[in-house]
Amino acid sequence: MIKSFRLRLTAWYLAFFSLLFLIFSVFLYGVLSRALEKRLDESLAAQAVTTAGLFQDELEEMHGDAPLAAANVVSDMRVPDGAIAVFEKTRLLAAGGPVPARQLEGIAAAPAGMIGVSYGKYGARAAVHRLATSGRDFLIVALAPRDSIAAELGVVRRSLFFALPLLVALAGLGGYVLASRSLAPLGWMAEQAHKITDSNLDARLEIGDAAQELAVLAASFNALLSRLDRSFESMRRFVADASHELRTPISVIRGEADVALSHQRSAAEYQETLAIILDESRRLSRLVDDLLNLARADAGRVRLQVQEFYLNDLLAECCRAAQTLAGARRIDLECRPGDDVAFRGDEELLRRLVMNLLDNAIRYTPPGGKVSAALEQEGTHLRIRVSDTGVGIAADAAPHVFERFYRADKARSRQDGGFGLGLSIVKWIAESHNGDVVLASRPGSGSTFTVSLPRD
Ligand code: ADP
Repeated sequence: MIKSFRLRLTAWYLAFFSLLFLIFSVFLYGVLSRALEKRLDESLAAQAVTTAGLFQDELEEMHGDAPLAAANVVSDMRVPDGAIAVFEKTRLLAAGGPVPARQLEGIAAAPAGMIGVSYGKYGARAAVHRLATSGRDFLIVALAPRDSIAAELGVVRRSLFFALPLLVALAGLGGYVLASRSLAPLGWMAEQAHKITDSNLDARLEIGDAAQELAVLAASFNALLSRLDRSFESMRRFVADASHELRTPISVIRGEADVALSHQRSAAEYQETLAIILDESRRLSRLVDDLLNLARADAGRVRLQVQEFYLNDLLAECCRAAQTLAGARRIDLECRPGDDVAFRGDEELLRRLVMNLLDNAIRYTPPGGKVSAALEQEGTHLRIRVSDTGVGIAADAAPHVFERFYRADKARSRQDGGFGLGLSIVKWIAESHNGDVVLASRPGSGSTFTVSLPRD
């Protein structure tokens, strides 16, 4: 099997061209040989007819002496290398030319028209013409060997035979040049693609004036590069943001430990340090959990543990769990889970979703404010609505709050322990249940997050 595409193309081209040339040659040869035969037949038929006419006149002149009339006519008419013969019934009256009489006598029984006769190397053609005059039956035969046709066809055969290798060589060369020319842009594209690495993913293949098919290939490749570039960029940002987030708790832990170890301290001081370290470690493990979950979600490796449960129960449980935090902040938490609503989904993930929303609502609402959570049914959808009377989200920040590591109010969020991942996890959980989450907010007077989940 030929590996090179160029050689393979050339070979196909060559094979196709040779076959075409062969078919053409056979066709040409056939047409020519038939045309030559027809020409010979027509000229023999014409000779036979002319001879018959002359013989009839001569017979009248000779007062019915057929052998004499035949001898006169035969000596007047000449077929080059062939023969003219006149029979009465099957008796040969006269013949001219180099053909032996024995061979001519065999023709006497032939029907009128053209016949092939075995004669010499290539055979002969004979025109048989019947003449009935004054009650007698005559037969006029004009015969010519096929030698001249064979000679002419031989010339054609030899020409084709010599032309074939020459044409095939030319076709091969042409095919090779053609294949090289049409494949050149591919090599050039491969060369460009070779230079693209993860450090210059923004580079693109130059399409130039490449043929349409190759331009499509290059455009698809460029589109693939764009997609790769985007996902590389978001991965890079994710890693950079994650490292940045990890740095703060780690440096707090290190700082606390350094200070504690620098000299002897009281038991109370050690306790305080350990409490801070424990607090930061919790933060750290929450962050690592979040990161791991998002990374798994990106890789499409999170399998939903789908089961049937009561969504209203889940909401009520979340409200109970959030009550401590709300109480500590003097926030009134109101929960309206409504009637029993059975739902099929991943209970653990949906608990996370509700907790993240409640946690945010409480954290971004000043003391004395109100947070409410409700479950509503609307047609085929269930809606979980979490509203607060908190700081709200500015219009320019609203489209970004679901992005990873995005914080509308950086100082406050970090101080409150947020990483900017909570809402991106909410969005991912809602979407993995074929639902969505929307935000309505008025800065200064509060926000409402509504999660819609389709009931299957
Ligand atoms: P964080 O951990 O910082 O809270 P989130 O992804 O949960 O991260 O939220 C992203 C940002 O959206 C927050 O930093 C905050 O500025 C804003 N935000 C989220 N929920 C609320 C809310 N209920 N009220 C006001 N701002 C909010």
